[in-house]
Amino acid sequence: MTLILYDTLTRKKREFVPIDPERIRLYVCGPTVYDFAHIGNARPVIVFDVLFRLLRRFYGDQHVTYVRNITDVEDKINERAARDFPALALNEAIRHLTETTAKQFHHDIGALGCLPPSLEPRATEHIEEMRDIIERLVKGGFAYVAQDHVLFSPAAMDQAAKSGALPRYGALANRTLDEMLAGARVDVAPYKRDPMDFVLWKPSKEDEPGWSSPGGIRTKGRPGWHIECSAMSWKHLGEVFDIHGGGIDLVFPHHENEIAQSCSAFGHQRMANYWMHNGFLQVEGQKMSKSLGNFVTIDELLTTEKFGGRRWPGQVLRLAMLATQYRQPIDWTVAGLNEAERVLKDWSAFSEDAPEGALPRAVLDALADDLNTPKAITTMHGLRRSGQSAELRESLRFLGIKPLAKERVALRGDEIHWIEARIAERNQARARKDWKEADRIRDELLASGIVLRDNKDGNTSWEATA
Ligand SMILES: [Zn+2]
Repeated sequence: MTLILYDTLTRKKREFVPIDPERIRLYVCGPTVYDFAHIGNARPVIVFDVLFRLLRRFYGDQHVTYVRNITDVEDKINERAARDFPALALNEAIRHLTETTAKQFHHDIGALGCLPPSLEPRATEHIEEMRDIIERLVKGGFAYVAQDHVLFSPAAMDQAAKSGALPRYGALANRTLDEMLAGARVDVAPYKRDPMDFVLWKPSKEDEPGWSSPGGIRTKGRPGWHIECSAMSWKHLGEVFDIHGGGIDLVFPHHENEIAQSCSAFGHQRMANYWMHNGFLQVEGQKMSKSLGNFVTIDELLTTEKFGGRRWPGQVLRLAMLATQYRQPIDWTVAGLNEAERVLKDWSAFSEDAPEGALPRAVLDALADDLNTPKAITTMHGLRRSGQSAELRESLRFLGIKPLAKERVALRGDEIHWIEARIAERNQARARKDWKEADRIRDELLASGIVLRDNKDGNTSWEATA
């Protein structure tokens, strides 16, 4: 069976051929931990969780390493920490902010049914690897020191690209240096030789997070964002690995710069063999923004009445997300969530008591075709129609979608007495082997929404459903 993935770099769907089938290596850019994750942030986490599950299925659980980092040093963090915790020293405020935000993130995505990645490295624990890469880049002539900053020079990389030694800067974004310069919001800073140069390392003020600097700089400093992912992927996955993923908004400059840093430092044509990007997320047909008031966090969907006037179960959010193929833009709507909930309620009730079953080939085939989740879901509707409850249950399990529990109904005391009296009568019928009468009572209760379960210990438990 073949796994086909769309690669942003070659702009083609290609068969996935691992570097080493014993060790499949996947890196996905994780959150910068300074605020609640919004529903757009949930998309790559869910999409690459499905890919992780699929790779484990193909190559075995022990042979897939999925690294998703936590960015815990970044200027947005410093600003937010200073604003939210003015009474604390900045470094202490930062620690508090990043720890609580990371915890919230884990809670949110756990509710969305995502498996933990194999490794979750933090940027602050990889400063040494960042310094190491920066030293290599300076030595190789791809980076230079100016006013206590270290800057990467895309022009220097392009020189090496002309002789075929390195890939061209801009190959992932599919743009030339001139086009990127015209389209990008580049800071013109006095320490830059060229406006396209980007920061690998910058000086820190006394109260800002700071570490001893590379490049012979005497003052303390901190890394730029792009170098963090080059360092963490190198440390845990090596110089070249299989798949690098993230949202489409990361293609330029973040991923372009990761490639520039890693390929120039280690002298390879590639950083990763496949680059995968999920599409944008809109809310009710509009770009999500705080100013439009349609900004919605995962936590708000799970625990408040902000979206559609109610809370939503995590597995409904997950199914709604997977109803759109990952590369397509997704429109996040109340109607879409209602539909996902209606379907999941039906599937859950239908497959609840199903025996163990195999994952149908058609579901696997759909997923192996560049994660075609809508096609997999269409197949699952077919399983429902043809009565294949075991296969539907296994498909849900494989996609990480927990069934919805039946709604529990509050009963009055006299109703409970009636139910218990009927169960006692049924147990008497069973004791005298009057199965017909026992079944009749069971069906009578079922018609009133009471489901019986005969347990191994001989007792009968019951549950009221809507
Ligand atoms: Zn990254």
